[in-house]
Amino acid sequence: MKNRILITSGPTVEPIDPVRFLSNRSSGKTGFYIAEEAKKRNLGEIIFITGPTRYIPNDIKIVEIESALEMKEQVLKYYNRSDIVIMAAAVSDFSSAKIYPEKIKKTRENFTLKLVKNPDILLELGKNKKKQILVGFAAETENMFENAQNKFKTKNLDLLVLNEISDKNKAFDVDDNQVYFISGSGIKKNEKMNKSEIASILWDEIENLINNKKIT
Ligand code: C5P
Repeated sequence: MKNRILITSGPTVEPIDPVRFLSNRSSGKTGFYIAEEAKKRNLGEIIFITGPTRYIPNDIKIVEIESALEMKEQVLKYYNRSDIVIMAAAVSDFSSAKIYPEKIKKTRENFTLKLVKNPDILLELGKNKKKQILVGFAAETENMFENAQNKFKTKNLDLLVLNEISDKNKAFDVDDNQVYFISGSGIKKNEKMNKSEIASILWDEIENLINNKKIT
């Protein structure tokens, strides 16, 4: 099977001033293993768009970005030509309304940073979906199935990988994770496993989706 595969990975980093930024705890491991597994299965040409991380696969096209806006620009550049799009990046929901040209001084007792919402890249991809198989991720701390199912519908996804964020499953910046798959056929619970094993069962699921699409 020769596909054009687009994978986003890692955190985004939103600048505040020349030395400070807003970001999140994503290590980039999940996206890394998803790319490695696609390579192992020889599934096609991979473009890997990533925020700053130590986990960068070899032998595929890498596009390095920092902010959500930069990620959006690069994702849109490759979206139309892609067959499978997996948005594993932990995109920051907000960025600083202003990027301060000089380092903010600690002379004031209080300082309020105004944040503005970043564009939801995946939502836009879902709205403009044509042939693509679109896979999104969700990390929820409450009402997780309800929120995830809403996300699956609103973002017009083919598959959503749901991470529960709790004391027993931290999900971010760890090796093992427990995820659920949400698709048109419902919710599937998976055991807690290594992120490389998650990548493998995720590709099994995606390959099934593609085969079913061909039959119907
Ligand atoms: O809505 P929520 O942020 O929970 O959705 C997570 C999914 O959406 C992930 O697949 C993530 O890569 C993507 N996302 C995005 N743009 C954002 C926020 C999240 O593409 N601004």
